[in-house]
Amino acid sequence: MEIIQVTAETMAEMNESDEPPLDLTLEPSEPIEITPPPKRKRDLFPISQATNEFRKKYYPEVSLTQWNDWHWQISHAIHSIEEINSRFSGSSVQINLRDNSQLPLRITPYYASLINFEDSLDPIGLSMLPSVNELVRHHGEQSDPLAEEHDMPVEGLVHRYPDRVLLLSTDSCAAYCRYCTRSHIVAKHRPNAGIQIWHKAIHYIAQHPEVRDVLVSGGDFLTYEDHQIEYLLSELRNIPHVEIIRIGTKVPVVLPQRITNSLVRILKRYHPLFMSIHFTHPKELTQEVKQACEQLANAGIPLGSQTVLLRNINDNPDVMKQLFQKLLTFRVRPYYLYQCDPILGSEHFRTPVSKGLEIIENLRGHTSGYAVPHYVIDAPGGGGKIPLIPNYFLGTDSGDIVLRNYENNTYRYPDCVTE
Ligand code: SF4
Repeated sequence: MEIIQVTAETMAEMNESDEPPLDLTLEPSEPIEITPPPKRKRDLFPISQATNEFRKKYYPEVSLTQWNDWHWQISHAIHSIEEINSRFSGSSVQINLRDNSQLPLRITPYYASLINFEDSLDPIGLSMLPSVNELVRHHGEQSDPLAEEHDMPVEGLVHRYPDRVLLLSTDSCAAYCRYCTRSHIVAKHRPNAGIQIWHKAIHYIAQHPEVRDVLVSGGDFLTYEDHQIEYLLSELRNIPHVEIIRIGTKVPVVLPQRITNSLVRILKRYHPLFMSIHFTHPKELTQEVKQACEQLANAGIPLGSQTVLLRNINDNPDVMKQLFQKLLTFRVRPYYLYQCDPILGSEHFRTPVSKGLEIIENLRGHTSGYAVPHYVIDAPGGGGKIPLIPNYFLGTDSGDIVLRNYENNTYRYPDCVTE
């Protein structure tokens, strides 16, 4: 893929400063007021040839500098089918938009550049553009299938497992996935969401020494400004029993320009810090995303992927193998393959479980073990992640374990009888 080279002038704009952590001490019951630091200059970022051609065709008034500014991308996100039809004229896609869509439409111009609007089966388009199918309810679908609201000791904090919590840091994302498990809370602009609830969550975690692992998700935490991100990370890191912090995000995929030098400098101050990145399809693996992942990996952040199995989008062994193999070259370890959660109106996204098992069967033994994620169902009702694997255990015979391998050849293992 050809990369547009930046100029010497652009290089000179790079921000080389490295500021100390902010001192944002907070009284637990007081409203949060965070003063942003002076605006930083733009970081250097690449643009792939196809995306640059898209920019020149559909956003001719937008400079390369603006395009690579994540604030510009967010503030110019596409919010309506009308905008899609007017800006991308010539599109033959017929989109059925529900009037009172539960989940609003939002796509960054960068992520839109990956969609072929003339192809109604474009995998990224199918995952981002509303469909009338969302109005159809099927057996077992629920607005909150994981019952997270039942395990919230304080607003926005899920404490389900003994030693770890999930902090729903915001209800906003850079782009909204139509199959989102948390579509009942994201983009709802609830008064008790976002920064205003952080202090209660921080206080709760500080009062619970059994919590050694905090997953910061949402919504998407990386849509906040740098100083806000630094504030929450520093507050969590100040709690002695919090051993690790994890961030769950799709920002490096839908808004890779957000992974700026200044953000990475902040993140690396709060190790051990892990990141789970939400990938869907090999089309997402652009030069921009590679740059974002490399910056994060170079900062010592272990990167894992999370992928939802989606009908007509990625439910194909070859597509999945391509995705997971290429993720390794981006220094991202495939971590979870999720069976799609039964949210309301999700039947058109969901596949039979046998499809997920088929995909794992086509990966295990056929490619690097690092490229094989855990296939899981997040049990409806709050049962947590349950792993699913193809059956390689055929039984026992005369003290031997009888197994089959990835080529369906049978092998015997002399089991140990002494405990
Ligand atoms: S990025 Fe995550 S939280 Fe946001 S809409 Fe997509 S799946 Fe939901």
